[in-house]
Amino acid sequence: PRDLTRPLVTGGAGFIGSALVRLLLARPEVERVVVLDKLTYAGSMERLPENGRHPRITFIRDDVADRETLVHLLDFHGITGVLHLAAESHVDRSIERPDDFITTNILGTACLLDVCRHAGIPLLHCSTDEVYGSITAGLFTEESPLKPSSPYSASKTSADLLCLAAATTYGQDVVITRGTNNYGPRQHPEKLIPRMIQCALRDEPLPVYGSGLQVRDWMHADDHGSGIIAAYLKGTPANAYNLGARCERANLDLVRMILAILGKPESLIRHVTDRPGHDLRYAVDPSKAERELGWMPRAVFERDFTATVHQLARELKG
Ligand code: NAD
Repeated sequence: PRDLTRPLVTGGAGFIGSALVRLLLARPEVERVVVLDKLTYAGSMERLPENGRHPRITFIRDDVADRETLVHLLDFHGITGVLHLAAESHVDRSIERPDDFITTNILGTACLLDVCRHAGIPLLHCSTDEVYGSITAGLFTEESPLKPSSPYSASKTSADLLCLAAATTYGQDVVITRGTNNYGPRQHPEKLIPRMIQCALRDEPLPVYGSGLQVRDWMHADDHGSGIIAAYLKGTPANAYNLGARCERANLDLVRMILAILGKPESLIRHVTDRPGHDLRYAVDPSKAERELGWMPRAVFERDFTATVHQLARELKG
């Protein structure tokens, strides 16, 4: 297995990154977690244990596209491997203005890849199931063609392909995860689940895109984190691993669940103009990760989704 003693987590002040940092801190072989995060509008130190001042966390505020900082910090902190999660992550923002998605997701990943190659350090790239585009029936495997639909997913696909190319061209030690949609605590209020909860708490209409029949496979952020760790430790170089929970739900069903959990009426649902290019269904086959990494999601959807809704409601009120 790869060395997990001193991982660098990029994007560790984000939703999934901060869940991953917690999982890493719980592992005895991890001496110190170094977090690199630019703290964009989406990042917050408050997501991290002890607001980032935990004795085993070193927090560095910088950009993944800043080569000099990266070269220095890999060496200075004796980094043994990189878990790369930093990204612009909101699809709607990418449709409004793709610039930052190109800069961070593509150029940032290219820069990090190059620095890792020169330092001889393994890189795990956290990609997404959105790289495959939409599927009406069946499941995408890692061999399925990449057909992204949004500027967000196109930028993530570019990063994914740059990682695969570095493995082919230089024999660089790179592993990719392609995870499905996540739920869990500490998600930014612009995302579907917290946004709906916020509206429901205020008794305001819940804006559901189009029919609301878009299907996503919902995975808990902690399961995504454990999948990232498993892929880093055991993944075959130059391979991608789908991470999914086999838990498909239509957006509208999720919104109905949120209303039921919060004791609010379904009459609050308002169908609004659909997002342009909105993919109807994402669904991946996670059996390669289950087989080769020995990874299994642990969340029980009804129970853990309910707990998440209550937790997010507390966060939004507080
Ligand atoms: P997030 O937006 O909550 O967090 C992203 C973090 O990256 C933030 O803390 C932000 O400050 C930081 N960041 C942004 N640009 C940066 C830069 N140039 N340099 C350094 N840091 C920067 O996102 P998330 O939902 O936690 O997603 C994390 C990763 O997981 C992303 O790569 C995303 O594509 C991927 N992913 C997310 C989901 C999901 O459901 N949320 C599903 C599959 C894959």
